Amino acid sequence: MTEAITASDQPLRQNLLGLTRQQLAEWFVAQGEKPFRATQVMKWIYQQGVTDFAQMTNLSGALRQKLAMIAEVRPPHVVEKKFSEDGTRKWVIRVDTADGQGGLIETVLIPAQDKSGSRRTLCVSSQVGCALDCQFCSTGKQGFERDLTAAEIIGQVWIAQQSYIDHPEAGQTPDMRGVTNVVMMGMGEPLLNFEPVVAAMSLMLDDFGYGLSRRRVTLSTSGIVPRIDELAQRLDVALAISLHAPNDVLRDELVPINRKYPLQTLIAAAKRYVLRPDEQGDISARRHVTIEYVMLHGVNDQDTHADQLLTLLEGLPSKINLIPFNPFPHAPYQRSSRNRILAFQRKLTEAGLVCTIRQTRGDDIDAACGQLVGQVADRTRRQSQWQARVRQGQEILRTGG
Ligand code: SAH
Ligand code: SF4
Repeated sequence: MTEAITASDQPLRQNLLGLTRQQLAEWFVAQGEKPFRATQVMKWIYQQGVTDFAQMTNLSGALRQKLAMIAEVRPPHVVEKKFSEDGTRKWVIRVDTADGQGGLIETVLIPAQDKSGSRRTLCVSSQVGCALDCQFCSTGKQGFERDLTAAEIIGQVWIAQQSYIDHPEAGQTPDMRGVTNVVMMGMGEPLLNFEPVVAAMSLMLDDFGYGLSRRRVTLSTSGIVPRIDELAQRLDVALAISLHAPNDVLRDELVPINRKYPLQTLIAAAKRYVLRPDEQGDISARRHVTIEYVMLHGVNDQDTHADQLLTLLEGLPSKINLIPFNPFPHAPYQRSSRNRILAFQRKLTEAGLVCTIRQTRGDDIDAACGQLVGQVADRTRRQSQWQARVRQGQEILRTGG
């Protein structure tokens, strides 16, 4: 028999959001319950959006009461949301930080049409700020505040999904899935917050979680080489590499982590990742890496850079995504002209590479991935009060950055 648990015995309730299926099963066993409760509760949390144990009607009344005493399902706190007419939805989320001021992260859902129908891609953050200081990135200029927990990462998907339950789009039935794709391209370097990111992504893939296919969940990294190999051991998700430069001299400057993990080691790791055998032992012909390349006027956008890129990527199954640079205050770069981006694309395409240009559709939308909240952060402003930061976040959302 389990001992009676009172609220005073357990002042800290366990947040069940963000626990993987295995962790949740172990937690139930530790509470003297059957492990299959984990999948029951996961379905409520992730598929029904239910956070109140009282509503989890396939659990016994006694278990529901017990859970209410010792556990909770607590998504992160949304301080601002905005739904655009084109279907884009944005949330600014506040998380606690050690200095008591709180930190802001942002999650953006971007709809698009593709061959397979309509896609709704959620751009998810993994850290508050980022330590890697890439020169063209406003998050990097903000510095690092802290890692997000698994609950705060998967909680971003929960919030987006919940918004479809609460506010379905015209013509949508409630059972239609909201989020169809996830990209870890918000704030932070996901491979430097490894375990929480792996836990959250495993819930995105889990049939009792969001059940997304592995091709629809993408981790984007600036190139933490040993962790790319570790990721391959743990999860099969799509990989994007933020390359941005085709030679080490330039990449050392733009993406300083390159000094630790130079291009040849990074490309070799990307090859190991995409060319590894799948569960059946086959090399999946469909696996490729997405190469992200931000277009900086006069810096990395010349024909010689395209030539170097072609040589560098030989033998790596890849698709290139050219990202028009999103300017931010005091940024030392400018966006390449449309014509230059098109010429760069043509050069790559003519050599046989698949190369797309990220749609800007209004800079407010494109700036979203890892950019908007970062723009509030010039280090001195970061010292200011929380309320001022929320106002800034609201202002950026209102003006579109
Ligand atoms: N840290 C990870 C994921 C977050 S950044 C990474 O670097 O991959 C997500 C993407 O946005 C990266 O490709 C990043 O290089 C790009 N990015 C950052 N700042 C940008 C800017 N100002 N304009 C356009 N893209 C930017
Ligand atoms: Fe960090 Fe990615 Fe920005 Fe570089 S581009 S500073 S790794 S968030």
